[in-house]
Amino acid sequence: MKISIAKTSGFCFGVNRAVKIVYDLILSGKKVCTLGPIIHNPTVIENFKNMGVSIVEKPSLIPDDTILIIRSHGITRSTLEYISLKGVKYIDTTCPFVKKIHNIVIKYSNKKSLLLAAGNKNHPEMIGIRSYFEGTSYVFKNLNELKEILKKISNRNYDDVILISQTTFSVEEWKKCAFFLKNMFTNIKVFDTICNTTHSRQKEAEFLSKKSDLMIVVGGKQSSNTRKLYEICSTHTKTVWIESVDELVDSIFYGCETVSIVAGASTPTDLVDEVYNYIKNR
Ligand code: SF4
Repeated sequence: MKISIAKTSGFCFGVNRAVKIVYDLILSGKKVCTLGPIIHNPTVIENFKNMGVSIVEKPSLIPDDTILIIRSHGITRSTLEYISLKGVKYIDTTCPFVKKIHNIVIKYSNKKSLLLAAGNKNHPEMIGIRSYFEGTSYVFKNLNELKEILKKISNRNYDDVILISQTTFSVEEWKKCAFFLKNMFTNIKVFDTICNTTHSRQKEAEFLSKKSDLMIVVGGKQSSNTRKLYEICSTHTKTVWIESVDELVDSIFYGCETVSIVAGASTPTDLVDEVYNYIKNR
């Protein structure tokens, strides 16, 4: 059996930076907490918990003697205002690609403007982005949802109409939605804010899935970018999505001559190597 690992596997730049900062702080004896899990990977989170990193669900629960790590997804404007007012010590690891979207949204924020955002409305990154916009905003997951939203918009007299996407949105779906909207709003300002790593991971996942009998996607079930990789791979070949090597069963390999492994941006290289070695040894 031929086994390949995607070259783009492993932590992306933003996750790597956030994780490294947490490790460095713990090793220097600091108390650290995060607002929600720092990344969407249960193995890394468990490891951090064992090292003493606490996870709080609300800013009001941040202990006094602890440094808050703002996750790479970013936080909402009101949370930032709250922690600044309370004098909470924090380190902001919001990814620069997410910050770039905040800045676009802030620039066009106006009660008479419209923000159309491609992504998942419940994802912390999207909740954060929308919080910086004062006008009307809508989030859609695909072209069909976008069309439904547009039916509800009766007033088209906006000062500005802007289109952005979550950093981990599907590149293919983005192209369809952007094309459609350019025909609907002649004055729309389109910002392709899908990040570089998402572009390259999705491209490689598509390439590998077209020539593999089986794709193994490794990453947290809450990870938005891992979900996109899974969706891309499943349209081309048999695909399984696992969080760890324990979930692999021998029967999925029957009849497969080529197997490829891809991983989300919050999946450590160690986990990918474990999967590779497991298959090789079997
Ligand atoms: S996926 Fe992209 S935007 Fe998100 S943390 Fe990684 S590099 Fe930054």
